[in-house]
Amino acid sequence: MSELDDKALLRYSRHILLPQIDIAGQEKLLAARALIVGAGGLGSPVALYLASAGVGRITLADDDTVELGNLQRQIAHDMASLGVNKARSAAARMHAMNPGVEIVALEVRLGGEALHKEVASHDVVIDCSDNFGTRQAINRAAVAARVPLVSGAAVAFAGQLAVFDARDAQSPCYHCLYPDEGAVGDGPCATFGVLSPLVGVVGSLQAVEAIKLLCGQPASVGRLTLYDAHDGLFRHLKLARDPACAVCGTGVSS
Ligand SMILES: [Zn+2]
Repeated sequence: MSELDDKALLRYSRHILLPQIDIAGQEKLLAARALIVGAGGLGSPVALYLASAGVGRITLADDDTVELGNLQRQIAHDMASLGVNKARSAAARMHAMNPGVEIVALEVRLGGEALHKEVASHDVVIDCSDNFGTRQAINRAAVAARVPLVSGAAVAFAGQLAVFDARDAQSPCYHCLYPDEGAVGDGPCATFGVLSPLVGVVGSLQAVEAIKLLCGQPASVGRLTLYDAHDGLFRHLKLARDPACAVCGTGVSS
């Protein structure tokens, strides 16, 4: 028997109509815990879609505050959010959209032991950060805790998406793909600019993959999706696991 009440059946009816989700899948979503790191351009659509989709517990971490230059693309925030912490601002919007899900706003830059602890206590982590150091740290935590990681990035007209699942012995990790730890600095958007809806495209793709993972559907593990917004083209590359990867492998080249 379903434990969903009439209001929940109505709210999630368009999910329940999908045979791939149905009531069982929706109940899985409502019981699931998702961690979103970053409440900016990528984090905005991820946060809004996971809340509206009924992911039962969503933790959102960001230490930054909303500025005018963010509103070109960070759609979880508005003029009233200027100067407010981004996690808190997005959490308010998520709660207004769906008060039935629990939202935890962490107004910190997650790192070190705190990051490992948060990743380990969620069913999926969605990397919506904007710097290479944080991406590598999230990957290390996800591999250590065997929590699937949905990674997204967007700069200028170029977007990319990849899903890594450390529960799967064949899955590569983010470090297999980008082994050079110190290659890129902070804040690509601040440096290079980014097309406003590009972050919406990539963030929406991240939300799709997270929802599939949480309701037991196969996600796009082991594949890099590249989106060229300028030419309007998607490309897909198969990713191989590096057995010598310093994070998920032996750390020793053969
Ligand atoms: Zn690896």
